Amino acid sequence: MTHSMVIVGAGIGGLALALLLARAGRSSQVIEARHDPSLGDSRRSINLALSERGRRTLDEIGLTPRLAPHLIAMYGRTRHDVNGGVARFAYDLAGARALHSLRRDALMTQLLDAARDNPRIDLRLGETVATVDLDARRLVCRSRSGRRTLGYDLLIGADGAGSRVGAAIDDQRGEPAPRQALDHGYKEVTLSARDAWRLGLELNALHVWPREDYMAIALPCSDGQFAATLFLPHRARAGVPGFDALARRSDTEAFLATAFPDIAREAPHVAAELHEAPAAPILCRLARHWTDRAGHALVIGDAAHAMAPFLGQGMNCALEDCRLLAALLADAAPADAPAALARFAIDRRPDAAAICRLSADNYGEMRRGIAAPAFARRRALEGRLQTALPDRFVPRYAMIAFTTLPYASLADRADRQEALIDDHLARHPDDAHGAADDGTTGAPLTRALHDALA
Ligand code: FAD
Repeated sequence: MTHSMVIVGAGIGGLALALLLARAGRSSQVIEARHDPSLGDSRRSINLALSERGRRTLDEIGLTPRLAPHLIAMYGRTRHDVNGGVARFAYDLAGARALHSLRRDALMTQLLDAARDNPRIDLRLGETVATVDLDARRLVCRSRSGRRTLGYDLLIGADGAGSRVGAAIDDQRGEPAPRQALDHGYKEVTLSARDAWRLGLELNALHVWPREDYMAIALPCSDGQFAATLFLPHRARAGVPGFDALARRSDTEAFLATAFPDIAREAPHVAAELHEAPAAPILCRLARHWTDRAGHALVIGDAAHAMAPFLGQGMNCALEDCRLLAALLADAAPADAPAALARFAIDRRPDAAAICRLSADNYGEMRRGIAAPAFARRRALEGRLQTALPDRFVPRYAMIAFTTLPYASLADRADRQEALIDDHLARHPDDAHGAADDGTTGAPLTRALHDALA
C-alpha cells in the first residue's frame, strides 16, 4: 500500500504539521511508536515555555482557545540568590508581553484530540517505524499486531532527537552530524502550591536559582503547582557538584541545604524526589542534510535540530518549522513537492543553526549572567534604548521570544547591537541611562545604534 504523505512521530511537531496540512486540504498518515504520546516520560520536560513562534502556529491550527485555560503568563524571570535575595527582570522591557507556561500533557492532549477528530488524518498509535528505505520509498512498521510495509510519496521525519528517518538520510548521504550530549543533565520535581506559597513564588514568572556552575528553574502550572528542574553536571569536579556525587539521599539533602537553602527549608520533601528522579541527558544535534537525495523525505523539529533547552525554543522552533513547511507545500503542485522540501531545508537550516547556538550560549547567562550586578544595569540600559529607538533597537531575547524574525538574521542583528553596547560600556561602565536620559554618554550610543541598525 502507498500513502502520499507519511509523517513519522505524533509528537508536537508531527501532529501540528498534520493539522496544518489538513487545513490546506491534504491528507496524511501519522505513525507514532507510543500508545499514548500525551503521557509524559523521563526524557521530556513537564512544562514548556510557549513564545510567539509556537503560539502563531497553534493560532493557525485553531487550538489557542482550547489551550487558554492551561496557559500561565510569565512576565519575567525572578532570580533567587543563595542568601535569600530576590530580583525580578521583565522579559519585555518596553511593554508587558509574556511567555506562557504550558503543561506538555495538556498541549499533547489537545493536539491528539484535534488529530483524532480530523478525517484527513490517519493516526496510527503504537506502531514503530523500524526500517526506512529511501531508495524504494518504503517503510517497515512494527506493532503488537505484526509488521506492515508502507510506500510513500513524501515522508516527514518528526520523530525527535533519535530520528530513524534522519538516520536513514545520514546513511544515504554519508555525512552524519555528531550527536552531542551536554556535560550537564537534568532532573525534574514538582513543587506543590503550598511549597510555592512558602517559598513566596509569584505565579506569573519563571523562577531561576542561578549558582554559577549549575542552576534550578521553576515554571508555573495552571493548578498552582510549579514544575522545577535542576540542571547539574553529570560528574562532579573540583568544587562543582554533579549528579554522580549525589548517590545517597543524604548527599542530596546536604547539597540542597548548601546550594538551595530556601527550597531545603520550605520544601524538604524535594530531596527525596530529587534522589528518586532519573538524571536525563541533554542531547543536541543539528542534522547536516535534512532531505534525502531524491527530495522525497525531510526531517523537521528535534529530528533536524535538537537544541539545548536554555532559551525554551525547541518546541517553538518545531512549531514554526510546521507553519513554514505547510505554507510551502500548500502552494506546491504534487509534482513540485520535492522542490518545496528542498526549499524548506535550504532556507531553514541557517535559522536552526543560529537558534542552536543561541540556546547553548544562554545557559551561561541563566546560571551566571543574571546573578552578576552588571546584568541589571545592562537590562536597564537596554530598556531605555528600546524606548528611545522603538523602530531600531529590540533586545536579543525579545526578538527571539516575541517576534517571528528569522533566527539567523536576528542573531546577526543582536550581535551587532551587543558589540556597540559592549563598546559603550567599556568606556562608560556606569552608564545605565543611555541616550534617552543622558545627553553626554548616552547620545553617541543611541546614534551609533540608530545608524548601524537602519
Ligand atoms: P518529540 O517531542 O521528541 O516527538 C517525537 C515523536 O516521535 C515521539 O512521540 C516519539 O515517540 C516518536 N517516534 C520516535 N521514533 C519513532 C519511530 N521510529 N516510529 C514512530 N514514532 C517514533 N521547548 C520549548 O519550546 N520550550 C520549552 O520551555 C522547552 N523546555 C524543554 C525542557 C527540557 C528539559 C527539554 C529536554 C526540552 C525542552 N524543550 C522546550 C524542547 C522540546 O521538548 C522539543 O523541542 C519538542 O518536544 C520537539 O518536538 P518534536 O515533535 O520535534 O519531537
